Amino acid sequence: MLALVGICLFSGCTEEPKPTPPPARDAFASSSWSQHRLVVLGIDGATWAVIDPMIARGELPHFAALKQRGAHGELVSFLPSKSPVVWTTMATGRGARDHNVLDFTYPFRQGQPSGLVESHLRRVPALWNLASECDRSVAIVGYYVTHPVDVVNGWMLSDRFNSDPQVGIYPEELRDEMAAVRAQVTGPATRAELVKRFVPWDYDPLVASQPEHPLYRPTQYIHRRVDIQFFDDELVRRASRKALAEKPDLLVSYYRIVDNSSHAVWQFYDATDFAEKPDPEHVKLLSGLIPEAYRYVDEVLGEILSAADETTNIVVISDHGFGSATGPYRIVSDEAGWISGNHRSGGLLLAAGPDIAPGRVDGMTIFDVAPTLMALLGVPISEQLVGRVEKALLRPEFLAQHAPVFVPDYQSIRWARATQAGTSTEATERGMETLIALGYVSGQAQSGPQTNALEGKDLWTAEPVIRTEALVGELTYYLLRGDEDRLRKAGALLREKVPAELDTIAIRVSHHVGQIAVDLAGGALKPTVPVEITQRAQMLGIAAWQAFAKGDLEVVRRQLREARSTDEHGDDAVATVMGFHARVVLDRTLGSRSNLALQQRNQGR
Ligand SMILES: [Zn+2]
Repeated sequence: MLALVGICLFSGCTEEPKPTPPPARDAFASSSWSQHRLVVLGIDGATWAVIDPMIARGELPHFAALKQRGAHGELVSFLPSKSPVVWTTMATGRGARDHNVLDFTYPFRQGQPSGLVESHLRRVPALWNLASECDRSVAIVGYYVTHPVDVVNGWMLSDRFNSDPQVGIYPEELRDEMAAVRAQVTGPATRAELVKRFVPWDYDPLVASQPEHPLYRPTQYIHRRVDIQFFDDELVRRASRKALAEKPDLLVSYYRIVDNSSHAVWQFYDATDFAEKPDPEHVKLLSGLIPEAYRYVDEVLGEILSAADETTNIVVISDHGFGSATGPYRIVSDEAGWISGNHRSGGLLLAAGPDIAPGRVDGMTIFDVAPTLMALLGVPISEQLVGRVEKALLRPEFLAQHAPVFVPDYQSIRWARATQAGTSTEATERGMETLIALGYVSGQAQSGPQTNALEGKDLWTAEPVIRTEALVGELTYYLLRGDEDRLRKAGALLREKVPAELDTIAIRVSHHVGQIAVDLAGGALKPTVPVEITQRAQMLGIAAWQAFAKGDLEVVRRQLREARSTDEHGDDAVATVMGFHARVVLDRTLGSRSNLALQQRNQGR
């Protein structure tokens, strides 16, 4: 009965459902909806590259257990590799151009007063809005870009509740309870305990402003870059315990400590890629931080596992992988060299539960997360979503009994923010400091009062470089799925809106194809040395491109590894060949002339 109410609202009807559904509803009514619960654990920046060796050493018992009995694989991530953009894509199933969270800050223009992106910018409903509309109960804890919070069927704590409790909680009645949790976490006893867990010296943030102090540099690596996250994540963890006890139909919790510590101290965790090796004294102090961050989220996973029963599906995801910030992954704005880790395309996918098919899942992407979670939850899936239900993740029996239900769009969905108030200046400044310290935002961006002008607040008025990045991931996804129809549609729109940018966009997409392939094969694109395209690279490149356009990433990995096995630049050469073939398809479908443009550009050099 509950499900029928959901269907009714989805189809835009406002009357109470009748006891006997009309014949036209048969298709909907006959699909019996799953009443299983879903717990989603989001770990920003988590990668198998750290998890697998830790599992092998007997650490991370809960990751190990889940991997052994569940489904696992690399979740393919796309540009823009910006966490708020990717997490919003995973919650909505839409590309940046539709969900409109295009960057860390907005307006999406350079040199303008910037604020942190907020939920106000999001233009499409998220998983929790849809679940609420279907009368499923939800608890959403600490998820990226949920500030200020939405009205939901359950409760929601925003990712910035810690710094801005006024608009960070729905419903109002929970404010005191959550304020008490917050007071515990930020109280001196818990503070000291948390710091001690992650930092093996007598940590004093004030040392970060004393360059002569012997602990100045180690303190700088932690201060603002990681330390705030100890408390924010602990707040999410403690708030999530409430939800684990209440057992809502959908629980989503999000943790950021792995991402922040991986940016800040990667060179101390793994110095392999660094020409200049880090100071051994600093290695002693900082090499344990990243593993400890993973042990922390493993404990969080353990709490989820012990609260789960036979009706609970658990899905663990990250928005991108991680590696060293060297070569093409160097962070340009970080002139002083504080940041040593950066993103990779391969994120984390791990799932288990009554409806999850165990085994390796290859080729699922960030665009496929939302539709797949909707299928698990029994929420209708809009045909406007970019991705697809990842059937390899779901048991055939589940799919047979609960076939995903599609609707043309979510036009009739009602969803609202709990408040129209914006973020406080203090919260904005604190968030901005961390973004600058992690190299996400240039230090010149000033935080200041928000302007109400529409300028710079959507794709078409954004800075061209932000617009290009926002489009690249979605177009690359269509290439991966061989979806020329959607490429043609996007091409028509781009020719109308930004004809002068079309070639640049196509070139960027083609480079992204190569970059993803190299990332997933465990290599690293070299800085722009002209690569020699041997006959062998041609052959492997064509095979890799054909596999990519069929979504067969295992074959792509194999071609690149083979190319690399005999030639250090072999994978670059294969990526270059893949890029050429991607541009042929893009030029045919988007209507760009990118191969010609690139040829002319290279001749001009
Ligand atoms: Zn991230």
